[in-house]
Amino acid sequence: MSGAAATVAGLLHDATARLSDALGLERREARIEARALAVHAWGVETAWLIAHDTDRPSPAQAATFHALLEQRLAGRPVAYLTGIREFYGRAFAVGPDVLIPRPETELLVDEALGHLPPGRPLRVLDLGTGSGCVAVTLALERPQAIVTAVDRSPAALALARRNADALRAPVRFLLSDWFDAVAGERFDLIVGNPPYIAAADPHLGRGDVRFEPLAALASGDDGFADLRRIIRDAPAHLAAGGWLWLEHGFEQADGARRLLQEAGFHEVDTRADAAGLPRISGGRVSENFTDGRPCPKL
Ligand code: GLN
Repeated sequence: MSGAAATVAGLLHDATARLSDALGLERREARIEARALAVHAWGVETAWLIAHDTDRPSPAQAATFHALLEQRLAGRPVAYLTGIREFYGRAFAVGPDVLIPRPETELLVDEALGHLPPGRPLRVLDLGTGSGCVAVTLALERPQAIVTAVDRSPAALALARRNADALRAPVRFLLSDWFDAVAGERFDLIVGNPPYIAAADPHLGRGDVRFEPLAALASGDDGFADLRRIIRDAPAHLAAGGWLWLEHGFEQADGARRLLQEAGFHEVDTRADAAGLPRISGGRVSENFTDGRPCPKL
């Protein structure tokens, strides 16, 4: 570009080309990212970028945009640069202490909602809540539900609390290594998106994932360390007839179902995400028994 300041359209065009070259993004995806960075840098709406495409941003404005662009070109995820990611139609604050909410995790929410008939005060537990996106969404979609969310990372919990406050979601947050802080409590529904990637999986060294907390992603040599623990311990925390649903990797459905069956779950099943990949598995404890002991009849 010659001496004159670039237009909004020119800056976006240039950024799109660089993002797509540097990160191997499809043009469409690169354009969406360039716009997201501009929206954040200039504090405008996406519509403004289109309406003002022939405007010439000041050198300071262009510099702010380019500073963000350089960080993105170095690999930092857009959501960490803008501090926001949408999940189930709501904006969640995100940062490097938490996993960036994924669209496929909305499947876990859909499944959970199916087990939460509106108007009933059912007890829900979200394990490893991270940004709080699952717990907060369930609390807002089912105002009668009594939602507890745990995470063992104090920084994640602080962010989850911030999201719950901003979205006015009544969620009880507890610092807890899985079930540790809810000893003796039972829930009607337990959900979770635990870490499930094998520690040596090359996926961990690629793309956005490199910048996300490893503790939220990797789980032992086979990726099952946390799924195994959660499935083993869940029956002791489920009310009679209660459900457990967990997200897992697309190659882990058979393993997850086997673990659920071994732990005594019934109606064990798997659901596929929008891309057709088996993404969540779950099951139900018996109506009459919880963790092998007869349930006292009330
Ligand atoms: N689905 C995520 C990924 O592949 C991993 C999420 C998780 O480990 N819970 O990047």
